[in-house]
Amino acid sequence: MIQKPKGTRDILPGESYKWQYIENTIKEILENNGMKEIRVPAFEYTELFQRGVGETTDVVQKEMYTFLDKADRSITLRPEGTAGVVRSYIENGLSNLGSPLKLWYNMPMYRYENVQKGRYREFRQIGTEVIGSESYLADVEVILAGKAIFDKLEIPNIKLNINSIGCPVCRKKYQEALRDFLRPNFDKYCDTCKTRFEKNPLRILDCKEEKCKKMNVGAPVILDFLCDECKTHFENIKKTLEELGIDYQIDSSIVRGLDYYTKTVFEFISEDDGLAVLGGGRYDGLVKEVGGQNTPAVGFATGLDRIVEVFDKYNKDKIKNLNMKLYIANIGDRAEIIATKIAYELRALGIYVEKDICSRSINAQFKYANKKNAEYVLTIGDTEVEENKAKIKNMNTGIEEEINLNTEEIYKYLS
Ligand code: AMP
Repeated sequence: MIQKPKGTRDILPGESYKWQYIENTIKEILENNGMKEIRVPAFEYTELFQRGVGETTDVVQKEMYTFLDKADRSITLRPEGTAGVVRSYIENGLSNLGSPLKLWYNMPMYRYENVQKGRYREFRQIGTEVIGSESYLADVEVILAGKAIFDKLEIPNIKLNINSIGCPVCRKKYQEALRDFLRPNFDKYCDTCKTRFEKNPLRILDCKEEKCKKMNVGAPVILDFLCDECKTHFENIKKTLEELGIDYQIDSSIVRGLDYYTKTVFEFISEDDGLAVLGGGRYDGLVKEVGGQNTPAVGFATGLDRIVEVFDKYNKDKIKNLNMKLYIANIGDRAEIIATKIAYELRALGIYVEKDICSRSINAQFKYANKKNAEYVLTIGDTEVEENKAKIKNMNTGIEEEINLNTEEIYKYLS
């Protein structure tokens, strides 16, 4: 039997309704913030991610699904959403829609990762991008939108960690200090880290190899190197969060695995398993890097696979798969037509109705209705068609009543 590729998942009918609930809840929060949905291609030219996400990141160096298409163009399945959204923003002149432009997306992402709990090769992210404001207020708005997700979904034990990784000005000084720290052990680092030493030593701090992680302990932190502007920006965010009574911690180890971040970076972590359920930050240089005007921006992405998992842990019984309201059991040619007509009309009125589509015996139809937990069963045969009346049974109470075979009347009865 052919099985699904490693790191991918089937979301089965007994699970998908939870995804829908969570996706709809997050969508509502983001739309209440004025964010509008954007959909971009699942694949882009590889160069977009090399330039946007950064040549020396793990994502680009190790995790991208890259291939040549039939015309020998290098194509990559999107490993994250921001680069594609920014490409679309520039290509479609979306700055004309007014500033700031607030967007959200819900898309699967593809990364060739080491598969483990909460880490897949195809995973879904809902993200937001707020493009066009350099103010700390935009960072605060995006952080609050993230917090609202966990509040609304009633997911406990989520903590907010924030950090600032400065701008290119402060980063230069920091990189020097970091190189000085790393230099004595240079020979002992892995080959990937060695290639990052000159180009982008910050990325050495993301290395997942144990020996590198150990040597990174005690590295200087970028917070100590922030320029005045970055410092004020960060202070303003902290002050606002405090005034709003929002708990946060500064975690100077958050550097985020993507090169485009500047100033604020943040993560919402589930304390239950230590996994990040949402990550984001400011990326003031990306629009220009990808070929647009100098435009500040800030955003986040949540990992839905992880959110569904924690949601399930606490709120398993809070939401239910939609239940069948009515099953129309029928026997005989005329009854079949009437059942088909009533089902069609009731569905148009928004009722969840099923009827036999396998030409099965009446007993088999009842069995199906029971298995699917139908709330009511309406039974139509030749006599019922002739009299234009049929029995409708409440399957929970067992009470049976007679009703006219008239869609409006049945609709009212069920409502
Ligand atoms: P990133 O795009 O790496 O900043 O990740 C943002 C969020 O997406 C993380 O906080 C996770 O919740 C989720 N995420 C990232 N990578 C994966 C993965 N391989 N599998 C499942 N979720 C992921």
